[in-house]
Amino acid sequence: MEIRPLAELRAADDLSLAFNPYGLGGRMQPEEAAKFQQRQIADCDLTAGVAAGTRDSFERLRTVFAYGVLCYDVYTIVGDQALLIYEQALRDRFMEWCGGTITFRVPQAPDVSYTVTSYDDVKRRADRMMRQRAKLVVGTHVIEFNGMLHGLRRWARTAGLLRGRRSRAAEEALAKLRNHVAHPSGHHVDTPVGAVRTVRDLAELINQLWGQATPDGRLYPAPLHREIAVLSWNSAGRTRMEPAGALIAADSMEDQEDDEYQHVVVRAIPFIPGSRWNDEHWAEFDTRYETTQFPTDYLWGPGTRAEARTWLEHERPEGDSVDFTDRVFLVQDHERLLPPMRPAVAAGLPDNERVGIWHAVRADLPEDAFVHVRGSGDHSTGHTRRPGDCPACSAEVLGSGSYDEALRAAAATLGPIQVVQLPSVRLPSSTFWPDRP
Ligand SMILES: [Zn+2]
Repeated sequence: MEIRPLAELRAADDLSLAFNPYGLGGRMQPEEAAKFQQRQIADCDLTAGVAAGTRDSFERLRTVFAYGVLCYDVYTIVGDQALLIYEQALRDRFMEWCGGTITFRVPQAPDVSYTVTSYDDVKRRADRMMRQRAKLVVGTHVIEFNGMLHGLRRWARTAGLLRGRRSRAAEEALAKLRNHVAHPSGHHVDTPVGAVRTVRDLAELINQLWGQATPDGRLYPAPLHREIAVLSWNSAGRTRMEPAGALIAADSMEDQEDDEYQHVVVRAIPFIPGSRWNDEHWAEFDTRYETTQFPTDYLWGPGTRAEARTWLEHERPEGDSVDFTDRVFLVQDHERLLPPMRPAVAAGLPDNERVGIWHAVRADLPEDAFVHVRGSGDHSTGHTRRPGDCPACSAEVLGSGSYDEALRAAAATLGPIQVVQLPSVRLPSSTFWPDRP
């Protein structure tokens, strides 16, 4: 190979300079590019408890990333290495979880336990036990476990260390990339944008494995903050959302002009410009169906603005935080497919509204549950009808059949379901869920 002088090694790579905050296009100055790229991953720190081996590998990755400005190939290497650290993190976490002992359930025999001092021990043992058709005991469950990435992923989910339905689909994609890195079958080049995303996803995954959700995370977000809000609408179809505080602070003289508006008080994700968690469907709010993207709780209404203010001043409800992942929805199919419903609301339906086929689905967002059920009616789409993870989307099928069967499937996951009976309130205009009875 050609020997390059130090000055050349120290010079910025033209390809790297082509990436700037606005994507490809303008060329950045080397100084700016170095700062800009490092800032992209500066805030993804690991939580305190993370195993030393995983932590060292991750910090090395962040160090090397900075050199991408000098050598574009570094971005591909960073991406590849991140995927190997994915597996290392699972192994390290497994060793902490098992505390030096792993237990297998052997067919027609008592459980057997083995002492393990390294992950190599685990892998050797898992391999032997697989051949005896034995399964790894994980809490109250048993799973097939071969010690490879596939088995580790199943273990982490069964042990409850990883959560979320959309994140599961992302783990699946990561695992496929990981297998590509371990067994490369062709040429691939990563960009700084791709490398940043992989490093950020990896940081979220490691932190979640060690019990720490990521504030504003993409894969394992921390619970979202909800505030008290007032939704209002008039007969002309205009809708508004405002913080409850604005109503209390306003002059009551303004109430007169608002006489034509109906108001409801809810607990909802506040609208924050630029936030990735704005509820695009807030104006679809309906007490019967889950037509908003994030959980929105009905508190009061409908009524006039003055009545809403009186209620707010008297009750002083407060915000909270909510985990929107892994929710359970019931989808009713009666003449047509209806929007997803909370099990607690479905449990309170009168007998004559329990007709049709019902599907119990676990998903992060109602639209995910709906799209899955709609797709499962057509075999060619690849959506499954059998209980378990859907191979075509991020939904998990819990069960389907009659109303009672679907509600039982929901209760098997959630525990006993408390009936919630709410007054029938919905905002009139609808873009995303127009088809409601
Ligand atoms: Zn599906």
